[in-house]
Amino acid sequence: MPRFNENITEMPLKHSKYVYKLRQEYNGKKYTILYERLLMNIMFLDEESIKIYDEFKAPLTMKDVAKEVGGDEVESLIKTLTNQYFLVPVYDNEQWKVDEIVSNSHVPKVGVSYLVVTRICNLRCKYCFLSYSKENRTTMSIATAKNSIDQIMEATIESGVMNQKIILYGGEPFAAQRTVLFTVEYIRQKEKELKERKRLSRDVKVKIAIISNGTLIDEYIARFCKVNNVTMSISIDGSKELHDRNRVYVNGRGTYDDALRGLKLLQQEGIEVTASTTVTKSNVDSLEEVTEHLVSLGFSKIGYNILMAENIADPEIKQLSEKTATALLGVYEKYRNRNILIHPVVKQIKSLYYKNFQWSDCAACSAQLTISPEGKMGVCQAFVNDTNQFRYSVTENSNLFSIVEESPLFKEWRKRSPINMDKCMECEAIAICGGGCPYNAYYSTGSIWNIDYMFCSYAKSIVKWGLRDIFQRVMQREGANSIA
Ligand code: SF4
Ligand code: SF4
Repeated sequence: MPRFNENITEMPLKHSKYVYKLRQEYNGKKYTILYERLLMNIMFLDEESIKIYDEFKAPLTMKDVAKEVGGDEVESLIKTLTNQYFLVPVYDNEQWKVDEIVSNSHVPKVGVSYLVVTRICNLRCKYCFLSYSKENRTTMSIATAKNSIDQIMEATIESGVMNQKIILYGGEPFAAQRTVLFTVEYIRQKEKELKERKRLSRDVKVKIAIISNGTLIDEYIARFCKVNNVTMSISIDGSKELHDRNRVYVNGRGTYDDALRGLKLLQQEGIEVTASTTVTKSNVDSLEEVTEHLVSLGFSKIGYNILMAENIADPEIKQLSEKTATALLGVYEKYRNRNILIHPVVKQIKSLYYKNFQWSDCAACSAQLTISPEGKMGVCQAFVNDTNQFRYSVTENSNLFSIVEESPLFKEWRKRSPINMDKCMECEAIAICGGGCPYNAYYSTGSIWNIDYMFCSYAKSIVKWGLRDIFQRVMQREGANSIA
């Protein structure tokens, strides 16, 4: 990060092109929140100070401004604005800011591994992206599961990562119970063996998670998950009435009661269960009730999935995207002091509060790989029917880590961050957004490099809300002392 060594009194300064301004009132007075949207610096300026900042619309030196408005305070303000990079020397094209983010990004290559253990699902949810195919009901064979785990563990060792999360996914994973039980036991056996032989450090955490609709979970499965330290994510869309509108069996019957029975069995075993809830037209207007209901069921982590936009020209989609953002923020605000984690909001808010540039919102743009039931590897599970994406075979002899490291497909996905997307460079949310879901972008526009419309609208609302929230909190705590 350059410190401008020259005497800044003499140096012509200009506005940084990465500054975002937000007007705000407090106790009847007007303020401006200045936000440097790449480095994530924040300053609050009162009416006098913003006038001084605005002087630099055309390049000026501090001397020029001091001549006009004068005083030590003005000098000190200009120095702070320069040190925080809201003002930059006229010669600075600010490319160093982008370069610094890219070089500090340390995008991990492995760490999240999806195994799509089966294409079979006992449900026919109305918004499912894995559109059900009668022809393809493949379940992962034991040999493929074994090869996959062997390769994932080798990749963990080779890459030196300290966390490996293996996620069993479907269809409905428990529709392939034999494969699931084998895979989970094999992961734990392999982990133990590698640690005993000191090939894998004892400090490496190998986590297993299963994403399930909950309806096939019985006492045996719940006990098995507990013994093998498996965490679960269960899809629940809210009350019975809301859930059963979309999440139905083949014959159209609702699945709420059966999902809840599975959930209770897991909870009785003391297993960590996250709710996975899709925000749709059906539940967006009642997201607070949905959350209250999920909390009453014992969830303390709720992952809201933002629905993908099929047709971004549809005015209903625009309305839904705005409603989704407002509803998620409302829920986050209500529950943040009750130890209930509302995803994805918590991620973007943390990124803003801790000044942590969010490279990607989804692990597929960093550490993720996915293996299909047929033993083909790609990046994202949503593309599992796409043979161009799932083009690498996982066999006894393949070297999974070198594929992940070298292949153009994985390299392209690891690059997909708003900082590498022209469409995002002007955006106020660039540092907290992470670019949403590339699959959603692909689904609605044909390219992962386009914008995930629904997420984009959500992220822009979050950054404004977050900046205002920081302002309010700081003002309540420190009052006018925090104002430049
Ligand atoms: S691209 Fe979308 S569907 Fe695929 S892993 Fe990422 S968030 Fe999930
Ligand atoms: S996806 Fe949208 S919100 Fe996110 S950085 Fe790009 S333009 Fe901004």
